[in-house]
Amino acid sequence: MTTKSAAVAARATVYGYPRQGPNRELKKAIEGYWKGRVTADALRATAADLRRANWLQLAGAGIDEVPTGDFSYYDHVLDTTVMVGAIPDRHRDAVAADPLDGYFAMARGTQDVAPLEMTKWFDTNYHYLVPELGPDTVFTADSAKQVAELKEALALGPAARPVLVGPVTYLLLAKPAPGAPADFEPLTLLDRLLPVYAEVLADLRAAGAEWVQLDEPALVQDRTAAERHAAGRAYRDLGALTDRPKLLVASYFDRLGEALPVLANAPVEGLALDFTEAAAANLDALAAVGGLPRKRLIAGVVNGRNIWVNDLEKSLATLGTLLGLADRVDVAASCSLLHVPLDTTPERDIEPQILRWLAFARQKTAEIVTLARGLARGTGAITAELAANRADLASRAGSPITRDPAVRARAAAVTEADARRSQPYAERTAAQRAHLRLPLLPTTTIGSFPQTGELRTARADLRGGRIDTAGYEERIRAEIQEVISFQEKTGLDVLVHGEAERNDMVQYFAEQLTGYLATQHGWVQSYGTRYVRPPILAGDIARPEPMTVRWTAYAQSLTDRPVKGMLTGPVTMLAWSFVRDDQPRGDTARQVALALRDEVNDLEAAGTSVIQVDEPALRETLPLRTADRPAYLAWATEAFRLTTGGVRPGTQIHTHMCYAEFGDIVQAIDDLDADVISLEAARSHMQVARELAAHGYPREAGPGVYDIHSPRVPGAEEAAELLRTGLKAIPAERLWVNPDCGLKTRGWPETRASLENLVTAARTVRGELPAS
Ligand code: GLN
Ligand code: ZN
Repeated sequence: MTTKSAAVAARATVYGYPRQGPNRELKKAIEGYWKGRVTADALRATAADLRRANWLQLAGAGIDEVPTGDFSYYDHVLDTTVMVGAIPDRHRDAVAADPLDGYFAMARGTQDVAPLEMTKWFDTNYHYLVPELGPDTVFTADSAKQVAELKEALALGPAARPVLVGPVTYLLLAKPAPGAPADFEPLTLLDRLLPVYAEVLADLRAAGAEWVQLDEPALVQDRTAAERHAAGRAYRDLGALTDRPKLLVASYFDRLGEALPVLANAPVEGLALDFTEAAAANLDALAAVGGLPRKRLIAGVVNGRNIWVNDLEKSLATLGTLLGLADRVDVAASCSLLHVPLDTTPERDIEPQILRWLAFARQKTAEIVTLARGLARGTGAITAELAANRADLASRAGSPITRDPAVRARAAAVTEADARRSQPYAERTAAQRAHLRLPLLPTTTIGSFPQTGELRTARADLRGGRIDTAGYEERIRAEIQEVISFQEKTGLDVLVHGEAERNDMVQYFAEQLTGYLATQHGWVQSYGTRYVRPPILAGDIARPEPMTVRWTAYAQSLTDRPVKGMLTGPVTMLAWSFVRDDQPRGDTARQVALALRDEVNDLEAAGTSVIQVDEPALRETLPLRTADRPAYLAWATEAFRLTTGGVRPGTQIHTHMCYAEFGDIVQAIDDLDADVISLEAARSHMQVARELAAHGYPREAGPGVYDIHSPRVPGAEEAAELLRTGLKAIPAERLWVNPDCGLKTRGWPETRASLENLVTAARTVRGELPAS
């Protein structure tokens, strides 16, 4: 092994590219197909055009080896389920009748058949469809999609590398199929699954693949010795195949840790590692195993899931170190570029100078190509790029957006007392009871009411200049009136204003805070045809003026009952944005928390005595490795307490969480020191109430009794039964009655009926309580 040969071979590659097309053509074609307006052939043609455009774009930009098979009509894990023939029984007929419709039935369900469950892909905001496997699962190989897409790419000219979800990750992401024992471990199916991968690999080789990439991000999580052993066995077996392409095992999102020696010793030809946030740990682990003297190393030095321009010199230094550690070093993004928007160039609302701080998929591709060239030919071959990069980094570092002295001084002066209510929960709860005078089992909602077509039209009209701000606000006030009067009539105890003015719970605040950037076209796939445009936490964060106070105050002016103020919490503001990479997340969270603290205090000053700070994302950004969790939870809970710590004891602070199971973070929830928490619980029959009780959670809680993810109206008796279940875990003095989450995705008819039933249920169960 010589340093020189490793460098000369340096190639540029990526693991995946945004699927949607520059104008979300894929979304339009798929949704058109669902509505019967686009034929299957037209959909396939659009998809093929988008794939071709991506490959030509990548190859044209200088990417030496393009990925194939990363395209998906919905989700690449679902594609893997099809590839290995693990179609759930309930979908078999539909898939046999029409593979495309059957595929969408698995993804979305039909009138009669439930879809696969959907959950987050590691700690990203991408959602995959969870494979359902059981002891009876029979795998069969279906390499058609992979083979066809490889052939399409090869026909265009560039070298192409199929990318598959690896067998170990596939099994680790699965859950027991309906009917399988609840403790069934899908990983026990490994021996049955490997022959199917062997068949797919042989087919890909026959179709012209020199390399195939097997993605194993599950190996960057804490894994048991048995799981690591299974991974070792999988790659020993696949490596031992004779009829196969070269194998590249890819890891990303974190360090490989104890799994690194397992893969380094496996008979595969290549390994891909994340050298962004996990760089130091992966470098140490590589050095500890003596490098990869006979393997190709793909170095993910360009962050594939954040949007900042790369520090090219720093990346070159990392690559230089790696040259001594592998037979050959190639350059890539740390993970698929699926997680970033496509291109910065169409952005018009961001100053050109600031736009140069950002790199979306297209810009990242250029960075990878530049780095590969620099690595192969020396920095002399990329002097112009390095100079431009240095200027962009300096412009960012020196900008007043990046550093606002007032924000920094305030954040530095924060004391422990700022993040603490003036009285402990047990004492302030008496002040709140006296002040609010709520009945036992008080009823409330989570904040939003239906976002009707008229509201969306009003927002579009405002953007399009068809109505002015005054006209728009008139619309919002009318909506608030309606929402308040409905809640009074229905008999809810703590009212909300309904969030009619909010397009999105993060974007609404991001637009009003300085230091945040918004994009016009920065779409990122969340799931299926759903795309989001995460705002960018670009600089120091400040709140120039109150953001929500007038709407809440207006709502309060219409009623004598308490109206709850509604804010998105600091952790969720970070989780659903792109976060700056030049300071620890905890520092950014603290700045956001201080801005929100001002809002909380202003709400209180305007007469709001119940304030909810939503943190639905607290659980989902929990680090993948348990060792990293205490540090995360420390800054996350501190940010929440800093947001809410400035109010009087009699002001009641609520929080809300959903989209996750919370059993393993109950201590952190307690550490938020909120007075009341509402949680998603209807589907799990109050499981979370039992978890809170088991922990000895001392505060008030409202486990949801109305599943808002379904248009179904829960009956009053059904909700009452859930409340009775809740009462077995949480005493009546501390139990609240509320839906699982906000109602913005629901229609008015089901919202009306469900909330009427919820109030009836609360009244019924109150009547059953022993008189005190
Ligand atoms: N207050 C928000 C709402 O009701 C909470 C949304 C959420 O938890 N995702 O819409
Ligand atoms: Zn929610």
